[in-house]
Amino acid sequence: MTASVREPTDRLRPRAERRVVRVRCVEIGGGSPVSVQSMTNVDSCDVEATVTQIERLVRSGCEIVRVAVPHRDAVAALREIRARVDAPLVADVHFDHRLALAAIDAGIDKLRLNPGNIQNADHIARVADAAGTAGIPIRVGANSGSLAKRFLDASGRPTARGLADSALEEVHQLERRGFDRIVVSVKGADVSMTVAANRRVARETDHPIHIGITEAGTAWEGGLRSAVGLGILLTEGIGDTLRVSLTGDPVAEVRTAFAILRSLGLRQRGITWHICPTCGRTRIDLLRLADALQAALDDVLESLTIALMGCSVNGIGEARDADVGVVGGDRRAAVYVEGQQLHHAVGEDALPSLVESEVRALLSRRSIARQASAGNARSV
Ligand code: SF4
Repeated sequence: MTASVREPTDRLRPRAERRVVRVRCVEIGGGSPVSVQSMTNVDSCDVEATVTQIERLVRSGCEIVRVAVPHRDAVAALREIRARVDAPLVADVHFDHRLALAAIDAGIDKLRLNPGNIQNADHIARVADAAGTAGIPIRVGANSGSLAKRFLDASGRPTARGLADSALEEVHQLERRGFDRIVVSVKGADVSMTVAANRRVARETDHPIHIGITEAGTAWEGGLRSAVGLGILLTEGIGDTLRVSLTGDPVAEVRTAFAILRSLGLRQRGITWHICPTCGRTRIDLLRLADALQAALDDVLESLTIALMGCSVNGIGEARDADVGVVGGDRRAAVYVEGQQLHHAVGEDALPSLVESEVRALLSRRSIARQASAGNARSV
């Protein structure tokens, strides 16, 4: 039985009123931009593979990277990884508080503990003291799949209330120990339960909240389910940092996260694509163009809107409003840059490289303009 998503939200604190914690160079809470996290999924003991994946994640815009620490060997690897990457690193620890202590000693920037599997009060206190000395935050991360028995209902199933209360109980334990660099998360695969649990956490505490739909699935369905759940929460002002959990390459998690945040106007990072669905009027291969451009411009993190439109019905307006726009005709297209038509009747085979070069030229002009304006500001 899952809780209804329709619960009162009028007593929720605005995002700006949540406490702030710092994870290396990234602030979470206090109205800071909603940060994007992901998690490596190669063997944590394979330093080379983990470092390579962290570097790919950072290049894709990931701001905080979590690494699983399942055993002692992973702690040794973590120490090497820490020495090689500057990205904010979170150690994901379950079952054994000694791994948490060792990970803190290895120089991580944040710790994730699961209240469902580390419950001994003395162990939690020792970890809190070590994290306090190191000056790093702890995410209390409850998952519906690993709740302690006392938080399950009579039939042994998780509920929104139990999920929230499991996290809140450990939050209060940490607070009583004098530790307040806390981030809270309550995640389930069920969107309604996750939303209801987050609303309860948001009402009951002012610590920043990490949101996500866990075990969401592969890119297509998982991305959709995450967009629905995170979209509801973010629209209500819940969520100071997030991870989109997808099975597969974690870089897809980062791309999906930014797409969700862009669609709500919460972050501007990366390209927003306005691509028409095509119809019987379409006379260019718009899908091929979209695929080619999305692959070619994969590395762009600057905020930019690109419109790819099949014909002039809605095309001219959309293309003019975008930073770069294409309006299709009969195997040809017009190309707009910053509202001006710069090219007309471009053959469709030439379109991908021409549009890409216009995008790169525009980004370069904007970068030069930004540097010039920063230089002028310094000299005033
Ligand atoms: Fe059809 Fe033109 Fe609309 Fe695209 S923009 S869906 S081609 S009418």
